[in-house]
Amino acid sequence: MRDELLDPEFNSLDAVVADGLDVRDVDGQAAIDAANLRPRDLDEFVGQAELKHRLRIILEAARRRGQAADHLLFAGPPGLGKTTLAGIVANEMGVHLHVTSGPTLERAGDLAAILTKLGEGDVLFIDEIHRLSRTVEEVLYPAVEDFQLDIVLGKGPAARSIRLDLPRFTLVGATTRTGLITGPLRDRFGLVARLEFYDVADLESIVRRAAGIVAADIDAGGAHEIARRSRGTPRIANRLLRRVRDYAEVEADTRIDRQVASDGLAVFGVDELGLDKVDRAVLTALCDLFGGGPVGLSTLAIAVAEPTETVEDVYEPFLIQQGLLMRTPRGRVATPAAWRHIGLVPPPSASASAADPSLFD
Ligand code: ADP
Repeated sequence: MRDELLDPEFNSLDAVVADGLDVRDVDGQAAIDAANLRPRDLDEFVGQAELKHRLRIILEAARRRGQAADHLLFAGPPGLGKTTLAGIVANEMGVHLHVTSGPTLERAGDLAAILTKLGEGDVLFIDEIHRLSRTVEEVLYPAVEDFQLDIVLGKGPAARSIRLDLPRFTLVGATTRTGLITGPLRDRFGLVARLEFYDVADLESIVRRAAGIVAADIDAGGAHEIARRSRGTPRIANRLLRRVRDYAEVEADTRIDRQVASDGLAVFGVDELGLDKVDRAVLTALCDLFGGGPVGLSTLAIAVAEPTETVEDVYEPFLIQQGLLMRTPRGRVATPAAWRHIGLVPPPSASASAADPSLFD
């Protein structure tokens, strides 16, 4: 659900990639824009240098041996490029990509149906893999370890099980929370990589690349302004570019420079730090309603009318990275910078809790 919230084209685009269809047949211009924005190989993938280096080695070694690449797990907040990397792995290895997600695989049979469709060396991408049910996870273990699938036929005393050989494939898992992945599942990945928020220079490259693809007229100042306010996240950078391009075409009728980008972003409620309405609601609730905290995550989520998981996965990581919010054993706490950002004066206690190291996780 979170991905749809962040990028309406997410699902249609994945279906396109998964089925290997020509995007023009599927979803019109929006899908063409979105699909083209997704880098197709490691060279086009901006940033994450260390991860790219490791992936290059793993993929090249597998290619030389003529084998499927080892199983890979990508962790990190939404929109940082986990799905894109799964597509790149498939593309670099010259195989098909099959896309599914933890919550949609309800029964063991759902996973079996997908596994039996895989071709030799194919990539199976499971998004939100931390949400797989235990029964489905049990089916996955022998599949990823020995490339075998146990199918139970019938029920009760007459039930019998048959074992099918599967082609060697690469499982690529994506998760917003490594902490929720069970030990046995985690151990079966040959690489567990964390994607970090992107710096402004990388996001500028992403915005310039996307602007080139969608033919948006933008200068260096405009690209910098959008990059700076994209919460370290490529998906948000692309989305803000689309909105600013709309604004520039309809209201400004000029190329996108720093001022046009800034005015356009203000119209769409993106502030100086790149925080949107919900980010600001989280900070306001924390400071105004709960005196700066500590307050429990679920209470905070109710106050801003968002699911707890969304606050934890989508909003909190960036607020923490910006030094606006802290996770402590007693709950969430606003830093003095958070008070100032929403135009309030931090009480002396705010600096005290921010400075008390015993409160940190
Ligand atoms: P995730 O799976 O982590 O939620 P995605 O792979 O769907 O994120 O990425 C979201 C969008 O951001 C993609 O459509 C892609 O266009 C863009 N993107 C992500 N990472 C990069 C990158 N490193 N370079 C360029 N564009 C990127």
